[in-house]
Amino acid sequence: MAEPIRDVTIIGGGPAGLYSAFYAGLRGMDARLVEAREELGGKLCLFREKMIWDAGGQPPLQGETFRKQLVEQGKTFDPEVLTGTKIAAIRKNGQGLFEAEDHRGQVHLSKSIIMANGGGIVTPQKLRLQGAAVAEMDNLHYTMPSLATFTGKTVLISGGGDAAVDWAEELSGIAEKVILVHRRDNFCAHEAQVEKVKRSGADILLNVAIHRLLADKTKTRIEMVELKDTETGALTRVGADHVVVSHGYERDAELGFEADLEPLRKDGHFFEGSADAATSVPGIFAAGDCLSYAGKVNLLVGAFQDAVNAVNRAKAFVDPGAHDRGMVSSHNERFKERNRTLIRELADKVKQ
Ligand SMILES: Cc1cc2nc3c(=O)[nH]c(=O)nc-3n(C[C@H](O)[C@H](O)[C@H](O)COP(=O)(O)OP(=O)(O)OC[C@H]3O[C@@H](n4cnc5c(N)ncnc54)[C@H](O)[C@@H]3O)c2cc1C
Repeated sequence: MAEPIRDVTIIGGGPAGLYSAFYAGLRGMDARLVEAREELGGKLCLFREKMIWDAGGQPPLQGETFRKQLVEQGKTFDPEVLTGTKIAAIRKNGQGLFEAEDHRGQVHLSKSIIMANGGGIVTPQKLRLQGAAVAEMDNLHYTMPSLATFTGKTVLISGGGDAAVDWAEELSGIAEKVILVHRRDNFCAHEAQVEKVKRSGADILLNVAIHRLLADKTKTRIEMVELKDTETGALTRVGADHVVVSHGYERDAELGFEADLEPLRKDGHFFEGSADAATSVPGIFAAGDCLSYAGKVNLLVGAFQDAVNAVNRAKAFVDPGAHDRGMVSSHNERFKERNRTLIRELADKVKQ
């Protein structure tokens, strides 16, 4: 079957891409959303347990709840959604259409492109221990499971960045004991958080790195952690019910553009663009963490604003006669229909 030509292909299914898919529907655009990972949500998949306090108009809610809501909203206008699909190259064909080629060689055609690929495809950095078979043991975590997992337990956290320090501080009120180990002599986390963790009662071991993980009899759980002093080489062992590794992320940011379609970049990856989501290439717009401009806010709210601008620009590119910005959602016909249903449902509830 011939590949359908969409108004816009949105590359990346994180907050910026999902909100772009929603807003493209609101502007009557036929959208395709392509995400490399099997799951939509982008970086929200990395902090499912964390409470988000700073998204406008939302009460504090967990990353996972926020992710689910965003995915539902992104699908409001039934965009084509492709997950497990990494875009590898972007070019233009003889008809002036953009061709986004995925890792399987399948080509996806559209009249415009919105880049919403964040910092690339991000996966937590795994432990690399020499000679040790580090299986994915049940109590070895690279992203945070439910915090209830740690109640009354001994938790060893390895890392010196914001995430490691934040979790050590947060878990100090939940776990029986928290041991924070870092291979250097000082943390690179925010200093206010470092001060808090120092006061939290956590055991802090500096110049110390995980050397070996020792499994229990079942071979499915870590029982002891062997630590190595990075200065003296001395080895010590500590018992732990859970080990959390927070060593940053690996990024796959490979995505090739045809020579004359390569947008201007900042630091080799980010798109050097403008606050209205344009890149240096007509027809290619950008939103969210992948976009750089003066005053850029690398937060969820910033991603949503960029998404609105990117969609409005893409709409004007595809349909030059269109209004340059969207109407408010109360004018949308599809919402009117849904509003009627919701009001009927509310009225029925009141009657009961
Ligand atoms: C630990 C942590 C905590 C945070 N806490 C907060 C907070 O409390 N409040 C807040 O406002 N912000 C927070 N942020 C920032 C927020 O998560 C980001 O600003 C937001 O996720 C940016 O969304 P995005 O869609 O631009 O990028 P991302 O979320 O990075 O999504 C990009 C998506 O593009 C996909 N992709 C990349 N390359 C390709 C390709 N070639 N083909 C297909 N898909 C591709 C990736 O797999 C990914 O899913 C936090 C970030 C982190 C890391």
